[in-house]
Amino acid sequence: MPMTLLDGKQIAADIRAELRQELDTLRLSGRRAPKLGIVIVGENPASVTYVNNKMRACAEVGIEAERIALSDQISEQELLEVVRRLNDDSSIDGFIVQLPLPSHINEATVLSAIDYRKDVDGLTPANVGRTVQGQPAIVSATPRGIRELLSRYHIPTAGKHVVVIGRSNIVGKPVAMLLMQRPYLSLPGMSAASLGDATVTICHSRTQDLPAITRTADIIIVAAGCPGLLTADMVRQGATVIDVGINRIDDPDSPRGYRLVGDVDFQNVAPLCNYITPVPGGVGPMTIVSLLQNTLQAYKNHIS
Ligand code: NDP
Repeated sequence: MPMTLLDGKQIAADIRAELRQELDTLRLSGRRAPKLGIVIVGENPASVTYVNNKMRACAEVGIEAERIALSDQISEQELLEVVRRLNDDSSIDGFIVQLPLPSHINEATVLSAIDYRKDVDGLTPANVGRTVQGQPAIVSATPRGIRELLSRYHIPTAGKHVVVIGRSNIVGKPVAMLLMQRPYLSLPGMSAASLGDATVTICHSRTQDLPAITRTADIIIVAAGCPGLLTADMVRQGATVIDVGINRIDDPDSPRGYRLVGDVDFQNVAPLCNYITPVPGGVGPMTIVSLLQNTLQAYKNHIS
């Protein structure tokens, strides 16, 4: 089977067009637009870029977005006060707190303070717990985007061996959980209920003989933040490879002085694969569009 590039940029554009159509219909029926709050603390350049991309994506589909920019000197208590205000603000359907936060602020404390019904990043313990138990939940954006990408390319996961490299709360753990779920966990807006039912192995930096494990995988999801981690000798012929990593590496030939690469040695791994995501243009755009889908989901729950 020839290799197919999983074009997250195109799929995300298709989903944005679908969302725009749905929101136009809502507007024509007299409904207000959904509203997303985006809290950003400090001016971390990568975070500023992500927030700008999210604001632009919202504008494109007709979601109102409000940026709440805070000083990196803000105390944890003051930030918690902002979170409480957004929880209580009935004009806001959902909001996110852009990560990472400055080191003097405990991320878990802040995320836990978000009302799970407005938690459109799906990172609160309530949403994670509900997802684990197969209850209606807002699923975190990157795992939702990966699931949607697999679904749109009709790549089944049932009975397949999925190896996830990375055990973070935002990618590794939730994507593993989502793909091993019974398909009854069908989410509003998801295009297929056939995803799930995978046999999942989660690996991390203490895993022994990672190549021996990845070579048995039908689908490998790499979310380690480690350029070139997945090499050709770790991948069996015909595998599907999802590269979540976004790493800046120096590149004097680029006008910005750097370029973005994933965690996969793409050049040597791609020829072995049936399907593989590029970086950029794979999982990244799917993460942003999942945030829009989650915002619409929160809006519908809010106004119903
Ligand atoms: P974290 O740093 O929180 O987690 C990385 C995980 O990878 C950890 O569990 C770590 O193991 C594991 N790991 C690191 N090195 C190795 C190794 N050599 N072998 C095996 N496991 C390893 O990262 P995130 O999950 O937040 O992000 C991962 C990557 O994905 C980053 O590049 C990030 O920028 C990117 N990202 C991309 C998104 C997108 O939309 N495309 C969205 C979110 C993140 P241990 O736990 O033992 O330390």
